[in-house]
Amino acid sequence: MIDPQPQLPWLLHLQQQTDQREQNGLLRRVRCVDTATQHQRLFCSNDYLGLSQHPSLVAAMQEGANRYGVGSCASHLISGHSPAHQALEASISQWMQQRIANAQTLAFSTGYMANMGVLTALADKHTTIFSDRLNHASIVDGCRLAAANGATVRRYRHADVGHLSQLLAKDTASKNGSQQRSIIVTDGVFSMDGDIAPLPAVLQLAQQHSALLVVDDAHGVGVLGANGQGSLEHTCLPAYQGLILIGTLGKAAGVGGAFVCAHADIIAHLIQTARSYIYTTAQPPAVAHTLCHSVTLMQGEEGRARREQLHMLIQHLRDGLTAICAQQPAWSLLPSHTPIQPLLVGDNASALKLAQGLLKAGWQVPAIRPPTVPEGSSRLRFTLHAAHQLDDIDALLEQLHHLSLSQ
Ligand SMILES: *Cc1c(COP(=O)(O)O)cnc(C)c1O
Repeated sequence: MIDPQPQLPWLLHLQQQTDQREQNGLLRRVRCVDTATQHQRLFCSNDYLGLSQHPSLVAAMQEGANRYGVGSCASHLISGHSPAHQALEASISQWMQQRIANAQTLAFSTGYMANMGVLTALADKHTTIFSDRLNHASIVDGCRLAAANGATVRRYRHADVGHLSQLLAKDTASKNGSQQRSIIVTDGVFSMDGDIAPLPAVLQLAQQHSALLVVDDAHGVGVLGANGQGSLEHTCLPAYQGLILIGTLGKAAGVGGAFVCAHADIIAHLIQTARSYIYTTAQPPAVAHTLCHSVTLMQGEEGRARREQLHMLIQHLRDGLTAICAQQPAWSLLPSHTPIQPLLVGDNASALKLAQGLLKAGWQVPAIRPPTVPEGSSRLRFTLHAAHQLDDIDALLEQLHHLSLSQ
């Protein structure tokens, strides 16, 4: 018999917090999902082009493992940077060369690490970072760490160019004559609302203030623009020397990882200073090899066809949700033209009940609640991928309609 010990006060403290979250309808749970068999019924993955299950990418992963083995075994600056990483970086630079002046690319292991690395490498005590209030958590954390290194951080109201302009002007006036530099950072597509940042106006401000502009286009790359170049292409953004594009490769690219594409001088600095690039094991070369194929696929005819299919599905889902909203005055569909389609249903309990009702019928649509989104804007967030069929969407809409009647 093990001697029953009195409970460690720490554990009691943690338990109470978890219980409190559950009572407030805010407990997050980890569910185990087999993507390969449940792909059609998943309305929550970021696999926007449906590439995670693509036979030629599965074959590329096997080929990469055969050729390189399964691990990189070191960081990029030691011996972890393989020919596959080199090829991946070159291929992304080429893909983005119209959008980024003198484009060079650096591969990161995750988007989270790319944001942390870029912001901390570029911002010091002479820097002010201007960040959209709805930016992704990894940008928020990058800003916090930069602030700990002495940078000033200002948050502007979501997509509010007027507010950004005021903050920039105020900062310039107060630092009159000193060596202050600015960085503006924004998501390209916002992950909770599915809206696209007002990039042309933001770029103009960046140019006026000689600021760097960091665009985290995790949900745009591969999805938006005829060539899949993302929000930059969608908004016809002119190339600017201070533009830094961060893209993730675990979403539309279907694999995992991230990249930073920017002017060669910026990339050269990041190689020396981005700690989340330097002090971590490089992604397995087989993954980079698979990504080379994925990047080629996203740029070519097949990528284009998948984007067209996706945008057709988005319109179909929106039409159906709009019809349901017409009968549910408390519900509203946000004006998004990306694969992220949030349906606001108000309180936590309704969102949770709907998500559970859908799940029972086999449909996976997450309920997104505070603190991820503001109080009172709990929602079902549908995300589409190009491997969905119209029938899948119709069946989902029918189930949602059925559930809405018992609200
Ligand atoms: C998903 C996401 C990230 C994080 O990327 P990972 O590769 O999953 O770490 C960063 N920024 C945004 C806007 C994202 O949506």
